[in-house]
Amino acid sequence: MGFCSRVCKILRRSKYVILLVLVLSVLAWIAIFSRETVKSVLLSSAIKQTLTKGESLRDKLNSRTSAPNRLNTPPQKAECPQESPLLQGPVKLSFESSLKLTDVESDNKDVTEGEYEPSDCTARQSVAILIPHRNRERHLLYLLHHLHPFLQRQQLHYAVYVIQQAGDATFNRAKLLNVGYLEALKDYNWECFIFHDVDLVPENDHNLYLCDKQPKHLVVGRNATGYKLRYKGYFGGVTALTKDHFFQVNGFSNAYWGWGGEDDDLRIRVELQKMKIVRPPADVARYTMVFHKRDSGNEINKDRMRLLGRTPQVWKKDGLNSCSYKTLSVERKPLYVNVTVDIGKPQK
Ligand code: BGC
Repeated sequence: MGFCSRVCKILRRSKYVILLVLVLSVLAWIAIFSRETVKSVLLSSAIKQTLTKGESLRDKLNSRTSAPNRLNTPPQKAECPQESPLLQGPVKLSFESSLKLTDVESDNKDVTEGEYEPSDCTARQSVAILIPHRNRERHLLYLLHHLHPFLQRQQLHYAVYVIQQAGDATFNRAKLLNVGYLEALKDYNWECFIFHDVDLVPENDHNLYLCDKQPKHLVVGRNATGYKLRYKGYFGGVTALTKDHFFQVNGFSNAYWGWGGEDDDLRIRVELQKMKIVRPPADVARYTMVFHKRDSGNEINKDRMRLLGRTPQVWKKDGLNSCSYKTLSVERKPLYVNVTVDIGKPQK
């Protein structure tokens, strides 16, 4: 037997062993490689998750002013107490003609682009305050002057949005509030909305700008009417509805041009959904109305009774889902976000 045939015999005998070694080493390589792949896939999906969780709209909003340091996440703050220790009860309101916007800005240094949140605890709710407006600068100034400290004493995370109707077509408070809701939700997932007249200033900080399980009407009384509820179904001035309540009723009707009726229409929507309007106690839900003459462009809507009669038939198609408008500008001022909008004009 020559050398070659001996070697061949050995090789033939051990071919299964060699094959086995080869297969095992291939398997080992696959295992090592796939472990690394799985590891990197897991890692990248974890990063993605953290980013999508962390990169909420609120973070985007915050990053406009201060970039959060993701490596040094601050420790979780405890939830703010059920009742804020900062509340003062009835406060004396002042309406000084010498008051200037810069005074209010320097009194509210912790407010950034209309937004505030308590530094030492996590607010119980995130609330968007929506104020429809046109040519009422003085009223807006008085309201901001009182409202910012009022909301801070309530330890809320909040932002103020002023929705300005452009042009001189008849005023439409309800449609402006629909726009405010839609625009504010582009910034952050606000859970509670306060629909607030510009000329009403709250007198008592126990009147909480928080949403309840049911839609809340915050104005029981005002100075101008002897602090009495105007009528049983009155739902005007200042109301608090959750994001979901407002969505469920399809928001306000867009059809009320001029003064009156749109708040009654909202009440009908709320009642059609079998929701029940709640109110804070009368000694707390008190407002001062800053005196003014009726604006031109906001004349009494003589058609409002007819419109109210058709609400049960039309509410599903007249509201948030049919609110067409053109945003002309969004200015982030120190004390509020100013949304100027073209909402069209009444149809003949
Ligand atoms: C109007 C409401 C208004 C209320 C109180 C009603 O006649 O329809 O829009 O809020 O009066 O002034």
